Formats: sequence, structure tokens, C-alpha cells
Amino acid sequence: MSYVFQPAPCPSLPVIGRAERFPVRRIYCVGRNYADHAREMGADPQKEPPFFFAKPADALVAGGEARYPSLTRDYHHEVELVAALHAGGRDIPAEQALACVFGYAVGLDMTRRDIQAGLRAKGWPWDMAKGADQSAPVGAIRAAAEIGHPASAAIRLRINGALKQEGNLAQMILPVAEVIAELSRYVELAPGDLIFTGTPAGVGPVQRGDLLEGEVEGVGALAVRFV
Ligand code: MN
Repeated sequence: MSYVFQPAPCPSLPVIGRAERFPVRRIYCVGRNYADHAREMGADPQKEPPFFFAKPADALVAGGEARYPSLTRDYHHEVELVAALHAGGRDIPAEQALACVFGYAVGLDMTRRDIQAGLRAKGWPWDMAKGADQSAPVGAIRAAAEIGHPASAAIRLRINGALKQEGNLAQMILPVAEVIAELSRYVELAPGDLIFTGTPAGVGPVQRGDLLEGEVEGVGALAVRFV
């Protein structure tokens, strides 16, 4: 195969304890999957169930540094459990969904909140709020073969050492198996897909120079500085 120019490199993540990296195909996200975050965004979690959106795969940043993007003065952190798939399909039954998960990582669904507010008001697509360059920092993947499928674990975010978000995976409205099952009704999932599973309450702005540290107990950690 030859191309008219060199294709972009495949985005990828390190896997703890493995030399091979995890190649990323697509990045999907769940919106409002924790009731307390839905409420802080002005939504009623009883009336508006979780929904899906996507980020470009090359928005991935494997820790280290991430650029503060253009056109926002209100760039928000959303710390999330990320499921990394090594199998996929369409219309996956929830009972079989966890077999698609290779492992888990901690991610940040970075969001231009000011842009998002304008898009929401107009009923326009969220892409320019959610899909900024380098808007998907993710830590190293921990294999499910090692840790299983965490259903209850603390999830936290600190900025410059100060605790900003804290929740528990058990608070997810749709647990990981149901997220995969529901998302696979919309799109065919495949090996390499990452799914951000939603954020607990406490989202807020980051500033240039801030060090963000995310963790999910028993799963992993992520450290990224915005520059
Ligand atoms: Mn999110």
C-alpha cells in the first residue's frame, strides 16, 4: 500500500507490565453517567438518561503535558474511568460485554465548557467543545486479566495537590457492561476502542501550569500538566 503522504501514527497507550502498547481506534464518551454531575450541569438524571458522544482518536495524550486549547477561558476537567476494548461487535448483550474489555485506565474528558454552553443553547453538535486537540489525556492501561472489572472503587482528581473531584464507580447510572451494550446498538465496536464512562461531580476549570492528578483506586493513575 502506498499513500500520497505518510499516514499519521496510530495513537496508543502503554500497558502496565507489558512491552507492547495498546493501539487506539476510536474514543467514545458517556455523558451524565453520575447523577450528582448531571445535577451540577443543570440536568435531571431521572428524565435525561446518559448519552454518547465521541472525540477524535488523536486527541489522546498519554500523560506528561497537554496543551491548553484555543478559544476557551473555561477549560474543564472531568476525571473518568476509561474502558479499553480488545473485542467488539454490534448489539452486544450486557452479559457478554465485559469480555470485550482488555483493561482500564484513568482519563480526563477535557471540555471547553464555555463553548459547550453556547452549543447546547443552540442545539448544535458538541464536537468543538469536546474534541479540542489533546483533550483526552489517559494514563497507562491496567489489564483486566490482572485486576478484574472494578464495579466499586474511589475515583478522584487533584489539581496542584488539592482534591477537586471525588466519587465512586458504584455511582455510575450505566455500569460499564451496560455502557458497552447500549453503545454497540449505535455503532459497531472494535478492538482499540476507548470508552470514557462519565465523571462524578466537582468539575471545574484548569489554568495553564496546573498539574492534574487523576486516580481510580486499584486501577491506576494519571498525571498531566497543562501548558
Ligand atoms: Mn465526560
